[in-house]
Parts: sequence; structure tokens; C-alpha cells
Amino acid sequence: MLKGGCFCGKLRYEVSGTPFDSTICHCADCRRAIAAPFVAWFSIKSSEFRLVRGVPASLVSSESVLRDFCPDCGTRLTYRHEDFLGEIDISTCSLDTPEAVPPAHHTWISQKLQWIHIADALPKYDGSLEPGDA
Ligand SMILES: [Zn+2]
Ligand SMILES: [Zn+2]
Repeated sequence: MLKGGCFCGKLRYEVSGTPFDSTICHCADCRRAIAAPFVAWFSIKSSEFRLVRGVPASLVSSESVLRDFCPDCGTRLTYRHEDFLGEIDISTCSLDTPEAVPPAHHTWISQKLQWIHIADALPKYDGSLEPGDA
């Protein structure tokens, strides 16, 4: 079982299932919401995500998109799209073991910062693979 949480520890979650997708997102919304040059996410069924401690705050970052974060330390945990509530994206680096869920591809390359030079051989996509993805 995968476990994770925010930086300060007030939010903790568990994932019971197996991630069905894992990406490094270069979109401008993720970049600005997290203030990082790109963000790694993995996707699971919403029913496989369980918050075991704390209550997150939510940001509506664009139409239909909710990003949950810790109200105390600010760590971004999840991305949910209103039209795809059956799935949830979780920030890979909020895991206790981010090495356990390596990315399978890069998405939103069309919005990538020019000073990021990708040196791995993973597939690159101009946008998201599925409409509900981060
Ligand atoms: Zn926190
Ligand atoms: Zn994104």
C-alpha cells in the first residue's frame, strides 16, 4: 500500500490500488499552483484513495478543477476534475516513497519551460493523455 502526506504531517493518506497512470506534467497551471518547473502526478481510482488524517483545503484552479492542499504547510496533494470524479491524481512527491511510482511519460510539453531539457527517453505528449488528467 502506498502512503503519503503533506510536509508538516497534518494530512496523511493511503492508496489501496495500483496507479494506472503516472506522468510529469509541464502545464502552466500545475507549474503555478505548485511553484515548481514541472510536477509529477500519478492517477488512481478515487475509491482507492483514503485520507487517514486531517482535512485539506481546496483551490478551484480552473473551471472544473479542484486542487487539495494542506491548510497549514501548503503542500499540494491532489488534483480532481469535476467531470472525472471516478479518478484522482496525486502528487507523486507527496508519497513517502516517490521512487515506487516512476513517471511513464511527459505531458503538456507544449507548455514546458524552455530551460528544462528532458534527458530521459520517456514518451512526450503536447497535451494531456486523457481529458481528466492534471
Ligand atoms: Zn501540512
Ligand atoms: Zn498539469
